[in-house]
Amino acid sequence: MKTTRKTKRGAAATKQLRTLLGPRKVLLEGDRKFMASFDSSKLSFEYDALIVARSEKDVGETLRLANRHKIPVTTRGTGTSLTGSASPVQGGWVLDMSRMKRIAIRKEKSMAVVQPGAVVSAIQEAADAEGLFYPPDPSSLKYCTIGGNIACNAGGMRCAKYGVTRDFVVALEGFLPTGEKVSWGGEYKKFATGYNIRDLWIGSEGTLGVVTKAVLKLVPKPESTWTSVAAFDTERKALMAVKALLKEGFAPSILEYLDEDSVYCAEEIAGVRLFKSVGGKPLLLIEFDGSRAELRAVRSRLRSWTDKYTLAFKSARTEAAADNLWEVRRKCSGAMFAMGNAKLNEDIVVPLESQLEFAREIKRLRKRWRLPMPTFGHAADGNFHVNIMFHREDKAERERAENAVRDLMETVVRLGGTISGEHGIGLAKSPFLPIARNKAEIGAMKAIKQGLDPNGILNPGKLFEPFQVWEHTPVTVHLPWDKKPILKR
Ligand SMILES: Cc1cc2nc3c(=O)[nH]c(=O)nc-3n(C[C@H](O)[C@H](O)[C@H](O)COP(=O)(O)OP(=O)(O)OC[C@H]3O[C@@H](n4cnc5c(N)ncnc54)[C@H](O)[C@@H]3O)c2cc1C
Repeated sequence: MKTTRKTKRGAAATKQLRTLLGPRKVLLEGDRKFMASFDSSKLSFEYDALIVARSEKDVGETLRLANRHKIPVTTRGTGTSLTGSASPVQGGWVLDMSRMKRIAIRKEKSMAVVQPGAVVSAIQEAADAEGLFYPPDPSSLKYCTIGGNIACNAGGMRCAKYGVTRDFVVALEGFLPTGEKVSWGGEYKKFATGYNIRDLWIGSEGTLGVVTKAVLKLVPKPESTWTSVAAFDTERKALMAVKALLKEGFAPSILEYLDEDSVYCAEEIAGVRLFKSVGGKPLLLIEFDGSRAELRAVRSRLRSWTDKYTLAFKSARTEAAADNLWEVRRKCSGAMFAMGNAKLNEDIVVPLESQLEFAREIKRLRKRWRLPMPTFGHAADGNFHVNIMFHREDKAERERAENAVRDLMETVVRLGGTISGEHGIGLAKSPFLPIARNKAEIGAMKAIKQGLDPNGILNPGKLFEPFQVWEHTPVTVHLPWDKKPILKR
């Protein structure tokens, strides 16, 4: 754990906050405080106090005092961020929002009004109970909060058809870093009343404000879903099929690609084999949703596509069978640890027209850096997860992995894409921001940050200051959402 500066002023401010909010909301030690010293990146830092917010008043008081005494504040939901965006790199206070988790469904408006600590799957369940649907579905949805999703503009598999978190945020309410209360919109769909700071907050990784309430858009629940899987001769053919499918006007709700290495992991290591006749071939997992009549029409239209492109194709007739098909996607990630014991999951984006070249580039990267890089992900929006596998204790491998990440980032930007589609920048990707954004763009971002947070107290040290991840040893703690690794050397 890295030690950060502690000041007398900080200690006095912490004491003052404890008096204001009470000792049960301002924790100075204990397991809960330790667990909030890192997120899923497991980059851990010392800090002064954990503030467990239970009301807007707690958030306002904390920020006002922090701003007056220039104490760093890192807001957090449940700490599933993979980039270190919720790790308190500059110490100070951590503001835990996970206890503010009320959910109210406004059926007549097709909206949900939620507090930031509401867990995403709980919002989906509450919407479902009213015959409505909240589509964004990060794989961490059973654990992560809507506040974290808004701050990271989280995505997921269903974004292929429905879009990302941003597309479902109607309005936000919360506090500026100075502790002043603000609201951007309300329970109405239209607003043209000055700058759209709501959208600036979305994806700002908790650096521009603290969300205390969100109004979310809900859509009608689809009547039915249809899940299928297709195997292809080559990765090239699979990606050509993706392009053709979208060009022909199909709108799958999910279109997940697994390259040969990912399929190898699922089949050979995790023992999940979907086709008896063909093994080791790249796959597409495809889901359509809609009315039964729409799905019937899709099924019959899809036949010419499957005839032309696929080596094997099958669809699920029951929910249980569909769940079986998803096993290949669920299991491949944990099985990747067979190819190393450390994994860098880079969530890059490449435009549709560059996907074939991207697949060629992954082969080049593998060869150049001599590391396995199983790649899977959301083919419809080009958001692929490149998993760079290495052994942490092997210094040479570690260095090659570090170089491979930079090479990958430069490659995707050259292909017209970007370095993160859903995980964000945080600490882990901060050295690469200048690859994806030019000086003027970074300057504009910094000007916004300076304007809203003149004392630089909110989530400092993220995005703009290049952080050397490799110099830090992650903590060894098993988190509930960790994939069980299958280790082999
Ligand atoms: C197994 C696993 C699978 C994942 N799959 C996906 C996926 O499919 N798609 C995807 O997009 N991400 C995925 N993630 C990443 C992660 O779940 C998301 O980034 C999620 O949005 C983080 O939510 P959280 O509540 O854990 O936020 P935290 O990790 O606690 O915080 C993340 C960021 O949000 C800020 N923040 C939190 N609450 C607030 C608030 N109230 N106001 C302002 N800022 C706030 C924090 O300061 C921090 O910058 C995955 C992570 C894991 C571990």
